[in-house]
Amino acid sequence: MKLYLKNTFTTNLPADVNLENTPRQVSKACFSYVIPKETAAPKLLHVSSEMLENIGLYPEDSEKKEFLNVFTGNTVLENTTPYAMCYGGHQFGHWAGQLGDGRAINLFEVSHQGKNWKLQLKGAGPTPYSRTADGLAVLRSSVREYLCSEAMFHLGVPTTRALSLALSGDQVLRDILYNGNPDYEKGAIVCRVSPSFLRFGSYEILASKQDFESLKTLINFTITSHYPEFINPNNVIIDKDTYNSFFHEVAKRSLDMVIHWQRVGFVHGVMNTDNMSILGLTIDYGPYGWLEGYDLGWTPNTTDHQNKRYKFGAQIDVVLWNLYQLANALYPLIGEADGLEKTLQDFSENSKVAYLDMMRSKLGLTLKDKSDVSLINSLEDCLQLTETDMTIFFRNLAHFNSEEPENWKAIIEAAFYTPNTIDNAIIIAWNNWFKSYSVRLNLEHVTHLEKIESMNAVNPKYVLRNYMSQIAIDLADKGDYSLIDELFIMLKKPYSEQPEYQKWFSKRPEWARNKVGCSMLSCSS
Ligand code: AMP
Ligand code: MG
Repeated sequence: MKLYLKNTFTTNLPADVNLENTPRQVSKACFSYVIPKETAAPKLLHVSSEMLENIGLYPEDSEKKEFLNVFTGNTVLENTTPYAMCYGGHQFGHWAGQLGDGRAINLFEVSHQGKNWKLQLKGAGPTPYSRTADGLAVLRSSVREYLCSEAMFHLGVPTTRALSLALSGDQVLRDILYNGNPDYEKGAIVCRVSPSFLRFGSYEILASKQDFESLKTLINFTITSHYPEFINPNNVIIDKDTYNSFFHEVAKRSLDMVIHWQRVGFVHGVMNTDNMSILGLTIDYGPYGWLEGYDLGWTPNTTDHQNKRYKFGAQIDVVLWNLYQLANALYPLIGEADGLEKTLQDFSENSKVAYLDMMRSKLGLTLKDKSDVSLINSLEDCLQLTETDMTIFFRNLAHFNSEEPENWKAIIEAAFYTPNTIDNAIIIAWNNWFKSYSVRLNLEHVTHLEKIESMNAVNPKYVLRNYMSQIAIDLADKGDYSLIDELFIMLKKPYSEQPEYQKWFSKRPEWARNKVGCSMLSCSS
């Protein structure tokens, strides 16, 4: 196994001088050195062949004992210094102080084909940031992160990736619903991969401690490593213009990410600032969920059921709120607020435009017309009149043809969850909407076939519905990993028809409506 190892993170940033692996407050540092915990009987369950190739390995490398040992934390490669990152965060609207990699340990960086990847084990044992928890992860949450992060990539959503999924062989105690019913579950480890795991909270923690020296070092490192285009090539000085451009770009990328979430019906579930990537990637797959019935008020996270802070319809606003926190952390270095404020003010307007363009693309509209806003608003209203499957509705919508306008009924009926409760008012509302849509389509210059093609490229046929992960998890728990592989392969081509997987292009089955893991998820993982 030959890897081109680098360690830009640990050599450029301040390290915790304390080498003890005990829970504590860490200061004047961006990370702490820590060795992963030995596992009892590690077993590899799945490897992403694409990620293997991306880091310069061959399929046969993943079959070696060394691969298993390295990617479950039992062997530390020579010349590598694993570490946990220090960060803080605003959780559910409140500053939570130091959080950090409580159960993630970065192994090393790999440089391949001009890219630098950080490889990180999630669930590899305690770190100085574990607080009162165990640093471990269970099979169910690991399957969910492994499958979803790769699926998101293939959907075209900016995301961290995953290299491997393994069982640790250890038993892990969890109280899934925090209701006093803990039980042992199988421990598991995912190797996550990303150009960076830095989060908004990485900067916030340093600003909160007024450690401006480390803050400056970290921001300059971030810009040099990931945003070098904003460094003035003539004087190579990182000045306030650079910081402002950097912030502007982070805002742009974060907006792009969340617009993709709205496009595919992904609800993150815990958009705390410690879960916001500085690269605008979807990061930390916890109690996330996929919309089944289109519902702007839906959140998968049981911890958030009361306030619904992170509901589907709030995600764009939450990104802005989180950007305000990042701006506050950058402000001490810049010393003036104008540039940061401009970016924040522009965000609202930019997000409206981006959302509108995205929704137009879902409807197959290539031109801009002033009626589009009301067309889209009334579509959102219609979709929420009765439980209506988002993925099925948009995928089938491509078949609507204004020359045969009567097929609207079949399209909408295929997406209804409770067809026998549909009353006249709902039918009339939909009929009216399709009439407006038909009029609007007539303004377009594309053929029906071109429209189908463009809509199929943005409206996925296959997403990782919550119940699908749950079936894969239940099977895996019994030692059958075949569905993990089947879903993994299917989700590589979410926009293709793939008739062999037609059974997964269907509404959530009734048994999954109120089942833990399907509609109810918690952070306990
Ligand atoms: P999350 O909600 O998953 O983003 O986690 C919030 C914080 O809790 C992060 O600092 C995590 O590292 C930490 N955390 C979550 N689960 C565990 C665990 N099992 N052991 C240690 N720390 C954890
Ligand atoms: Mg997190």
